[in-house]
Amino acid sequence: MLNIWSTEAWSLSIAAVAFGLLGFFSGNWFVASLITLGMYILWLYGRLLKLEQWIRKGTKASEVYEDNGFVGIIIRQLHQQKKIHNQRKRRTKKLLHRMNENISALPDATVLLNKELRIEWCNDPARYLLNLRSPQDLGNKLKNIIRDPSLLAYMENPLVQEHIEINSPVDPKVTIQVRKVSFGANKSLLIARNVSDQKQLQESLKNFVANASHELRSPLTVIWGHLEMLEGEQEMSKSGKRSLRIAQRQAERMKELIQDLLLLSQVESYHLAPDEGERISISELKTGLLEALEKYDDRHRVHLDFPAHMFLRGISIEIQGICINLVENAIKYSPPDKPVRVRWFESSNAEYVFDVEDQGSGIEQEEISQLTNRYYRGQKSRAEVSGSGLGLAIVQHAANKHGAVFKIVSEPGKGSCFSVTFPSYRCLRDDQQFHAVPPLANH
Ligand code: ADP
Repeated sequence: MLNIWSTEAWSLSIAAVAFGLLGFFSGNWFVASLITLGMYILWLYGRLLKLEQWIRKGTKASEVYEDNGFVGIIIRQLHQQKKIHNQRKRRTKKLLHRMNENISALPDATVLLNKELRIEWCNDPARYLLNLRSPQDLGNKLKNIIRDPSLLAYMENPLVQEHIEINSPVDPKVTIQVRKVSFGANKSLLIARNVSDQKQLQESLKNFVANASHELRSPLTVIWGHLEMLEGEQEMSKSGKRSLRIAQRQAERMKELIQDLLLLSQVESYHLAPDEGERISISELKTGLLEALEKYDDRHRVHLDFPAHMFLRGISIEIQGICINLVENAIKYSPPDKPVRVRWFESSNAEYVFDVEDQGSGIEQEEISQLTNRYYRGQKSRAEVSGSGLGLAIVQHAANKHGAVFKIVSEPGKGSCFSVTFPSYRCLRDDQQFHAVPPLANH
């Protein structure tokens, strides 16, 4: 440091001596000062110009030069910073390379997208699952390469669904599950995996359950017939009658279970087109529901509001399944002295809503999301109430099939409200008698 400033002090001293000599010999101190100052400025300017050229060329280490004045400090500082920067760059590059290698080794196709859904990067599996090639497709918009409308709709609005399943653009027989993960400012990752095996397994399991239920129906009908015949027997002992009652109860349960399994496999089969389905009278649904409730001694506590002017477009047996399952649950899971309110009404969005409100034990918040899984039964229900765990799965799938939204609102200790909202394109009405009814207050 001392050296640097001594260089500057030396140069100033030389300038002062030159100024003195010039002034003394010429006798014109003004001209002498101008000349000395000009020379000094030129000398400084030359050094700065050289520095500027070195910076412009990228402060290369190979072209670094010596300057013993203050310019030297700048050179050394810049040189040092460049060295640190290069070290960091090398480290980041290595890290990036390692990360690339790791992501490329993932079995899932991974595609990095920018705000406009242009491809910035993709790994190897993206080639054989999504038909994306790197580097050829980098910079292109995803929609120009994969022309699947459901994928594009999902990518633009992923909040509607957690993931989607589509056929692979490489092989339509391969089903892929696609998930979008957003990160940073406007960046996202598309992650796709081959789920054909799971899908096939699910399909065969579904078919097996549907076939088995179908096959079980005939023997059960025969058993049921024989049990009914035995009921008429006069000379049966007390214990024989008790056994008969138990056998009848179990056969009844089995019949319900088979019906539920068959209905579930039916509602899962395909998605209903908006104009598909028969015209269903809501008041006729009431008749079917009342028949199903006949077995409950406490059915009088169920208050039904099924307006006569409302009609739905859909599959009658499936809508009936929604009604019966939700009302039966409300009876099963609430005390016999508490009312159950069952209503069909039109919301302010011109959608028909079916809701069932009870004042039962209610459901814990963490449990709600699991209720629609098939065979799921609540801890307490398993011990206290008989059931198959299929009811709410049927409701969920039947609602999905009709484009409806199934919602559960519940508060432990207070009760629950189960509602199914049908889209307006499914709602038909007798306009003369139409009037809107406000929704029930939520718990
Ligand atoms: P199941 O009634 O045969 O057990 P469901 O699929 O109909 O099967 O219902 C799943 C679970 O949801 C039930 O076991 C019960 O714990 C819970 N549940 C359903 N309806 C109600 C309700 N109205 N009140 C409280 N819990 C309910």
